This record gives sequence, structure tokens and C-alpha cells, in this order.
Amino acid sequence: MRLWSRFALSCQNGCRRGNLSVTMHEYSLARALLNQVEQVFRREEAVGVRRVDVTIGQFSGVDPDLLRMAFEDLNQQSPFAAVELLIEKVDLEVRCDRCSTEFQVEQFRFVCPNCECGSVKVLRGEDMILERVVLEAI
Ligand SMILES: [Zn+2]
Repeated sequence: MRLWSRFALSCQNGCRRGNLSVTMHEYSLARALLNQVEQVFRREEAVGVRRVDVTIGQFSGVDPDLLRMAFEDLNQQSPFAAVELLIEKVDLEVRCDRCSTEFQVEQFRFVCPNCECGSVKVLRGEDMILERVVLEAI
């Protein structure tokens, strides 16, 4: 068993929700995800894919249930047929531009708890990330 990690995925239709239908968005992401898994699968010359781990940010605009549905659908046509998709949800984490305090955003409150500054940089929680591909080696 071999591990490979971390790749940020984006919708190939270039949207962040945008005007595409919800399902189109998740299908595009699932396709990007499977393409990436396939690259790893081929590069490592594995015989199968045991598990695919992704994290989905709270503010990524990705619906985990729809993603799973799209993944399972497209996975049937992939050359490896991944056995399991593991989805972990990630809270939105930001860093204050003024005092560098890092905190989790709750209920859309983008204000630093230390200095009340409202200018922050997003650290985690906006993306969908392929964290790990667990391969089946010979
Ligand atoms: Zn601050």
C-alpha cells in the first residue's frame, strides 16, 4: 500500500457555484478528482485504488452528498474503480491581517477575536482537496 497526498481541485467549468447547476458543479469536481487519481494510479503502476481521501471546506460550495453521488457514477467508468471515497469536512480558518491571530469563522463572523479587525486571509476551508490516494500495489 502506498500513499500520495494533497492536490487542490477546481471545477473544470471554471465556476465557484456560478450559474451552472449544482449537479454539474459536483460532476465536474468528481471528474477532476478521478482524473487526478488516475494519474497517480498510472504513475505508480498500481493494480487498484483502495481509498480516496478528500477534504471539503465549509465555504467551498461543494455538496458532499452530491459529490459522492457523482463520484460513484463516474467511478464505474474509470480504469481502476476506487473502492472507497472518504470525505472530511473542514471548517473555515482565517488569519487576521493586522495581528496574525488565527481563528475559525463561525456564523459568517469574519472579525478577529483579538483586535476586532475585519480584514482576514483564508487559510483553510475554501477548497476541495485531494488529500490522499491509497493504492493497491502488486
Ligand atoms: Zn487581529
